[in-house]
Amino acid sequence: MSISVIAQDIILAHRSEIIETRGHHMVGVRWPVIGSRGDKYHVEMVEYGFTCDCIAYAKCKHIKGVERLLADPLDENQKLV
Ligand SMILES: [Zn+2]
Repeated sequence: MSISVIAQDIILAHRSEIIETRGHHMVGVRWPVIGSRGDKYHVEMVEYGFTCDCIAYAKCKHIKGVERLLADPLDENQKLV
């Protein structure tokens, strides 16, 4: 990983209060997320939190959705019942 990539992650990443992302085995994993208007975004876990390629500056609902999924996968299943 180059220095510029790390610097970009620090600037763009939204820290997670739920998940310790530093050293997490899923760092570098990207999740496709379908937005409310059917548009597609990608949430990625980086060392310093999560990034999303949507235009929101604040931590967006796409990131929060992935956080919830990782924090408690069973919770997502229960919603479907
Ligand atoms: Zn987003």
